[in-house]
Amino acid sequence: MPDSFKALLLTERDGQVQAAIETLPRDALPPGDVLVAVEYSGLNYKDGLAVLGKNKVVRSYPMVPGIDFAGTVAESQSSELAPGDRVVLTGWGVGEQHWGGFAQLARVKSGWLVKIPDALSTRDAMAIGTAGFTAMLCAQALEDHGLTPGAGGDVLVTGASGGVGSMAVALLARLGYSVAAATGRSEEHDYLRSLGAGSIIARDELAAPASPMGSARWTGAVDTVGGDTLAGVIRTLAPNASVATCGNAGGFALNTSVLPFILRGVNLLGINSLPVPAEKRRKAWARIAEILPQEDIRRTMSMYALAEVPDLARQILDARVRGHIVIDVNA
Ligand code: NDP
Repeated sequence: MPDSFKALLLTERDGQVQAAIETLPRDALPPGDVLVAVEYSGLNYKDGLAVLGKNKVVRSYPMVPGIDFAGTVAESQSSELAPGDRVVLTGWGVGEQHWGGFAQLARVKSGWLVKIPDALSTRDAMAIGTAGFTAMLCAQALEDHGLTPGAGGDVLVTGASGGVGSMAVALLARLGYSVAAATGRSEEHDYLRSLGAGSIIARDELAAPASPMGSARWTGAVDTVGGDTLAGVIRTLAPNASVATCGNAGGFALNTSVLPFILRGVNLLGINSLPVPAEKRRKAWARIAEILPQEDIRRTMSMYALAEVPDLARQILDARVRGHIVIDVNA
């Protein structure tokens, strides 16, 4: 194991955040009982915010961003993991409060790591990443609240061309649901159909000002956008249906009314993928590995080098990224 490693390092000076690729000594890594030779890291919406110094995602510097990664255990003081084990990490504040995945090495707590199911390569695991894991948590939350494929009707996914959205479309379609995809990008309709979307609606249709209740259209929904889009979803959910809300790419504020909740019995389910207990994580990864075929993984993934992260960060915040970006940290 080398004594130094390459990383994208964020520093702050006079309130300005700078991102630069640096070679760092191994001793610079934070404490943890497992050292991972990182192979791939995802580029998520939150990474875009972190790299560009927005929304206080990172509060102390220097910081190595990268909220998820996949790689191989290099050293372990944990009885649960041994050198050579293939592992994936998502959440736990990694890349925000603890140095993250945009680096060739990461030292973390063993309890944050999940062994990658045999059916998936380290690259597959990061092609799925936080996006796929969160999409599966959303699907499971909807099912826990009564959604079944046999019930008929459409399950809506908003922000469908993005990372979580693409994964939600693919996973829900593979689970047997009829999926409606909401997107602001007409050029991505064919892509979304290739992932299994049966119908597509325009982003603006949901977010337009309207009366407190609209026609009941969705038997369930995954919302990655928040704001007026989420308000539009709530007012058009079918009786007793649920929306799993995980994102705010379109805004934090939620202007809605109590009417859909008290007249249709709809449910708003909050999803936080960061602090999920180990057993639930393992089950979600096993289910993804079981149902998601290679063709969906290939369709949703694009691969880039570490040096391209700052430019990609701007693109993801401008909704110019399709699917899920994987960073090869050794390229
Ligand atoms: P992406 O940028 O990949 O996807 C977001 C999508 O939302 C875009 O592709 C676009 O889809 C749509 N969108 C973007 N801006 C707007 C806007 N202003 N108005 C309406 N729609 C918009 O991000 P991710 O998939 O990585 O993350 C999505 C959200 O989920 C983020 O807010 C992220 O922080 C959150 N998240 C939360 C997690 C949790 O644990 N709760 C875990 C992972 C992500 P289109 O062009 O198709 O309309």
